[in-house]
Amino acid sequence: MPGDLGLRVLREHVASVYAAYNASILVHFGLGAALGIVMYVHRPRWWILAWMAAHLSFGLVLFLMPRWHADVPLQDTTRWARRHSRTVTLVSMATATAPWLFISADDLPTTSVLTVVIIGSCARAMQLLWPLKPALYGYTLPMMASLIAALAWQGDAMHLFLAVFSLGYLLFTLRVGGQQHKLLTDSLVLRFENEALAAQLGVQIAAAERASAEKTRFLATASHDLRQPLHAIALFGAALENELREHHGSRNAQRLMRAVNALGNSLDTMLDVSRLDAGVITPDIAPVSLDAMFRSLNHMFAAQAEQRALQLRVRASGLWVHSDPQLLYRMLSNLVDNALKYTAQGGVSVRARARGGVVWIEVLDTGIGIAPEQQDRVFEEYYQVQNPGRDRAQGLGIGLSIVERLSRLLDHPVQVTSRVGRGTRFRLQLPMVAAAPQHEQQAAAPMQQPQRTAAAPVTFTAPAAHPLPSVKAIQAAHGRVLLIDDEAEIREAMARLLQGHGIAVETAANEAEAIDALGRPGTQAEPFVLLLCDYRLANGDNGLDVGLRLQRRFGLDAPLVLVTGETAPERLQRVRASGVPVLFKPVNAATLLRMLGDFLPGLRHAIV
Ligand code: ADP
Repeated sequence: MPGDLGLRVLREHVASVYAAYNASILVHFGLGAALGIVMYVHRPRWWILAWMAAHLSFGLVLFLMPRWHADVPLQDTTRWARRHSRTVTLVSMATATAPWLFISADDLPTTSVLTVVIIGSCARAMQLLWPLKPALYGYTLPMMASLIAALAWQGDAMHLFLAVFSLGYLLFTLRVGGQQHKLLTDSLVLRFENEALAAQLGVQIAAAERASAEKTRFLATASHDLRQPLHAIALFGAALENELREHHGSRNAQRLMRAVNALGNSLDTMLDVSRLDAGVITPDIAPVSLDAMFRSLNHMFAAQAEQRALQLRVRASGLWVHSDPQLLYRMLSNLVDNALKYTAQGGVSVRARARGGVVWIEVLDTGIGIAPEQQDRVFEEYYQVQNPGRDRAQGLGIGLSIVERLSRLLDHPVQVTSRVGRGTRFRLQLPMVAAAPQHEQQAAAPMQQPQRTAAAPVTFTAPAAHPLPSVKAIQAAHGRVLLIDDEAEIREAMARLLQGHGIAVETAANEAEAIDALGRPGTQAEPFVLLLCDYRLANGDNGLDVGLRLQRRFGLDAPLVLVTGETAPERLQRVRASGVPVLFKPVNAATLLRMLGDFLPGLRHAIV
């Protein structure tokens, strides 16, 4: 046993014998006094009174002696254990005088009483002292040895019988005491080892939680830092794409934009995982119509299925479930996306069945299947069965880890069954609710157009780039956009993009420049119809506060739209609470123009 563990076990033993200290003294010396009285009544002799007085005085001294208490340092435990063993040995040696004083061959009643009292003391000692073996031996041996010897000394058959009986009892007591001691010691060792393991586990869990929080922070920071230049690339690229529209270089510009969009999507996916891990996503549970959701899935994946010459079958069930519509949609779209990706021929079907108060949603495919030993691993982050080269075109290996995290968050258990070469079935289990007609529209609505907004708890992949509206078509737009961004590059790129689409833009690096622009004469003739603000501005300013201050100061009707690469959940929360619309960097030109179209009437006409 290692030193510290041994000391802790000993400390428990010492604590348990000292817990019975008072009772032991009272019982031992009480019995001694009772014995003395009986002896004196039976045969009044002065030395019996002297023996009683000495005996009781010794008891009093022990009663007043300092004892072990819970504040005694661990290192002193051995000293206290020895001290207790010594004390009880002395008590026993003092009591060992009694047999030689009281036992005589012609007084069997006295012999019997004394034998019973000493054996009784031993029995009690075994119960109280077995945690400390030296104390058990120290207390029982002198008393019993003296009794046995005194009995045997008398030489007659009766006394010899009592001596043998007492010897047998002594051996039995010591054996049982030893066994009990071992049992108690083993269970204490086990308890301390378990406590140490639990503490170690606690430390490891805390370290894992810290690592996870650091990963989330790192991803949020890296994501923000990567989004900034990517945003500039996206804007310049979109402007370039627009400028090269009629030119032979337009194909390259389109490819560039596809790569930028793909990178933006990867960043969003990584961010989703870290936000789910950080526990900042809170589900918004409501009755959800599965028919409406399946329609949206069909709408989203029909083209992909057709392109791969696969059948996508989505079956209406009329069922409703209790879930968060956005998050459930995210789970199902990841499953359907995988099913299509890993199926070469045949098809994919999505269906729901009710069974005993629960609904099972199944996504089945006739694809390559997943081997049994891989079926748990596919839910791990970045785990892919067959992509050692990490070809991005084959995915990131995150889709199912998001499904698994959402399944835990929403409490929708997910199961997979699959046969290699035959296909795969993913099943989700959800609580069923009765159809609620008034919910039908709300439940279906968020699914129609998943998009990246601050209100969406999980970012959705930006919609595929739509063809941009032509310059001519939107030249009818009037009014100007005031763009506030502290980065000159972004101001220039955004201005080029918007101007390329016939939208007049004024740029400002900060609040002071924006005040200048808004206060300039001529603003009446060509008013600002929109404030487009970067969220994180120089000198600790933020676009939300700046934009709201400008609206107040100039009494502007022009709405505010924020652009952010911000990913820290607390900050997103603040933006979300303000209700101001947000675009996430890298901003896709089509999304930006669509958003602007909502605020610039001429532009909306051109885009819708
Ligand atoms: P990926 O981006 O690689 O699709 P996922 O986390 O979505 O990442 O899936 C992890 C792995 O699980 C995939 O690489 C693929 O090997 C396997 N997998 C997922 N869904 C299916 C499916 N329906 N059929 C066969 N294999 C699948």
